[in-house]
Amino acid sequence: MPDLSRFALNQITTPKWSMGEAIEGLRRHGIPGIGVWRRFIDDYGTAATARHLKDAGLWVASYCTGVWFNRADDAGLQAAIDENRKVFDQAAEVGAPCVVMVVGGLPEGSKDLAGQRARVRDGLAALREHATGLGVTIALEPLHPMYAAERACLNTLKQANDLCDELGAGYGTVVDVYHCWWDPELKAEIARGGADRVSSFHICDWRVPTRNMRDRAMVGDGVADVAAIRSWLDEAGYDGPVELELFSELDWWQRDPEEVVAIAIERCAPFAGALEERTA
Ligand code: ZN
Repeated sequence: MPDLSRFALNQITTPKWSMGEAIEGLRRHGIPGIGVWRRFIDDYGTAATARHLKDAGLWVASYCTGVWFNRADDAGLQAAIDENRKVFDQAAEVGAPCVVMVVGGLPEGSKDLAGQRARVRDGLAALREHATGLGVTIALEPLHPMYAAERACLNTLKQANDLCDELGAGYGTVVDVYHCWWDPELKAEIARGGADRVSSFHICDWRVPTRNMRDRAMVGDGVADVAAIRSWLDEAGYDGPVELELFSELDWWQRDPEEVVAIAIERCAPFAGALEERTA
């Protein structure tokens, strides 16, 4: 039996499954963890989700995602802060240790990328008291730069680490293979952050050719060196979730989730086991 002790399936990988079906599916396949999405929780009900997760004995790797800070005016920023506070309440209720913050891109019509990054920092700072009071980490996920305009102007692990240093306790990062594999500073930034900085490790692969904005490959089918990135996290002492997150409109989302999960276990098992004790 492979060691799947750190393995979580992010439920966006199997969008045909409702929350209840995903929980039962993971239980059936022996996957111990789940990454939950807001829309599936809303459909199923927050209390019902929490109850079912507990009953199935699943642990929650992460909650996806925070609300974008992508409105230009102060009222818009405040609205996003208020909505995010409710997101953190919901995350706490379902037992998520962190909320994955996809921070939002440029406001409509804006070219002020530096100004937007400053606005995002202000929004993130405003969440600290509420999130730390709930014990839920604000997990900053850098997105590949191709998403800078529309989804997130936080684009490298260095930027995320800089924000964590600036904002203090209560913040972490998400290292997502899809978003970070290309970054020449990735290894150094993983080492810089250390084990306690990383909230979750999202795995999948980079497909060649990439056909649209939701076209990730299954682990092993692309060009990203997942083994190398996992080894850098091992060296840093990271011992947290290894979470498969696969957006795939043209392929995996169309398949039977049973098939997706069976293949996912086979492909992710080499990366989903315990951190081995390292002897110097
Ligand atoms: Zn991710």
